[in-house]
Amino acid sequence: MNQKRIAIIGGGPAGLAAAELLSLSGHAVTVYDAMPTFARKFLLAGKSGLNITHSEDYARFVTRFGAAAARLRPALDAFTPDDIRDWVAQLGTETFVGSSGRVFPKVMKASPLLRAWLRRLEAQGITLRTRHRWVGFAEEGFAFETPEGRRIVDCDAALLALGGASWPRLGSDARWLPWLSERGVEIDALKPANCGFVVDWSESFRERFAGEPVKSVTATSKAGTFPGEFVITTSGIEGSLVYANAAALRDRLQSHGEATLILDLAPGRTVERLTHDLARQDAKSSFSNRLRKGAGLDGVKAALLREFTPERDRRDPERLAGMIKALPLPVLETRPIGEAISSAGGIRWSGIDDNYMLKALPGIFVAGEMLDWEAPTGGYLLTACLATGRAAARGIDAWLQG
Ligand SMILES: Cc1cc2nc3c(=O)[nH]c(=O)nc-3n(C[C@H](O)[C@H](O)[C@H](O)COP(=O)(O)OP(=O)(O)OC[C@H]3O[C@@H](n4cnc5c(N)ncnc54)[C@H](O)[C@@H]3O)c2cc1C
Repeated sequence: MNQKRIAIIGGGPAGLAAAELLSLSGHAVTVYDAMPTFARKFLLAGKSGLNITHSEDYARFVTRFGAAAARLRPALDAFTPDDIRDWVAQLGTETFVGSSGRVFPKVMKASPLLRAWLRRLEAQGITLRTRHRWVGFAEEGFAFETPEGRRIVDCDAALLALGGASWPRLGSDARWLPWLSERGVEIDALKPANCGFVVDWSESFRERFAGEPVKSVTATSKAGTFPGEFVITTSGIEGSLVYANAAALRDRLQSHGEATLILDLAPGRTVERLTHDLARQDAKSSFSNRLRKGAGLDGVKAALLREFTPERDRRDPERLAGMIKALPLPVLETRPIGEAISSAGGIRWSGIDDNYMLKALPGIFVAGEMLDWEAPTGGYLLTACLATGRAAARGIDAWLQG
């Protein structure tokens, strides 16, 4: 067989997944990454346990990718959550399903899995090159900055798996954006996804409650109503319950210039019950005492009510009960994309064919977070990165075979 040379630029989960499959097809595969080690964001994901995929019903699972769900479907079908668990097991890491249905390695970290994966890739004959930063196109191929100076790489096909724009210090700094758009690749601006938001806290609230978790509440936006918890930060709000609503809040901010997260601070109690219990409190006792005795709320929850409830509503049991059940928390803007868990936007689906090849640049394929899809946290992000990496690998193989 005439062995083809394939350059994979970006050694995160998408790039490494593609390399694995392509080398099994007998190609000469080299993975280049700008950083001194591979898959730094994958390793960071391991710090919070490495939620690698989700165990929910597959018919539901595939709806989690919003507008991109239909385009992603063939890639996901070919590498399902069950396949991921098998693949991880083959690499010597056992997984378990957490109470939320999320799937984690039993060791709750990424490093043993990544080590085993890289060892296997090398054993398959893949060349791994770190400290190779792609810096744009050259006439004869791809230009890289390396510790030994500038290098041009020529190849038969290439995969770009450079990630999005979150946590740029881990490698995915989105510098590729102008290089591709100058060549006619259609790209939507990258936006923060699964991100925190800025809230205009009063000075006293910020000083007292920054770092404090708000537990056992529900939060509602256009995305739906979700139970869970979030954290107060010096600048606003962060955490899983915020991320679940993040895309809806971000899009609302973009279209209307304002957005509000609605909190239920007492999900176990009805508004009637709260009204009744608040009405029984001595009208002359303090707001804090009435809240504590009548609604069981104190600490950060009581302070949130104080932040956003007008004085007149605090005296009226019915209105106060209404605020406890549906407290509007106005968010001013997203936190910067560099702090987000992931990014939305990226290379438009209209700019690639079904094989993940750029229509504007035949022979160059793309995968992972640089594509225009987004998903909530829950293992969906890594699943789609691995699945699109493998789908692009199949695309490259098919294209090379003409
Ligand atoms: C704190 C945190 C926790 C997360 N936890 C989870 C989780 O538990 N579950 C989950 O599903 N997802 C999680 N994610 C998201 C997930 O890690 C990403 O979606 C995923 O890593 C994206 O994979 P990728 O291969 O597309 O890109 P990346 O992982 O970003 O990899 C891109 C690679 O390309 C390299 N690169 C970039 N530009 C160049 C260049 N010019 N030249 C050469 N190399 C370049 C980078 O160095 C990097 O190694 C988390 C993210 C963060 C930030």
